[in-house]
Amino acid sequence: MTCKEVEKVIPLFLADDLDTDDLREFLVHIDECEECEEELTIQFLVLEGLSRLEAGNVFDLKNELDFRMGEAEHALWRRENMQRFLYLLEGLVGLAGVVLIVLLFVLL
Ligand SMILES: [Zn+2]
Repeated sequence: MTCKEVEKVIPLFLADDLDTDDLREFLVHIDECEECEEELTIQFLVLEGLSRLEAGNVFDLKNELDFRMGEAEHALWRRENMQRFLYLLEGLVGLAGVVLIVLLFVLL
């Protein structure tokens, strides 16, 4: 993902609306690119800050963003593991089908 692309999907990230591939690329880029991390921080502060100003509760926003980044990494990890599990399951089902066909041939 380029900086331009990252900038474009920041609102999607903040809305928790990125698919697994985009989320992975996004997190990798934010991790390596200071400018985009700053941009993310700004957008997060603006977005959350505005809704929080009314509640008079804007102090911990930076911590909250850090927390949210951690959560996103966890979510990504879980999603990737789930995908791997599904592939494995698919493989097993496919294998079971093959075994069944072979058994049918042997028995009939
Ligand atoms: Zn960047």
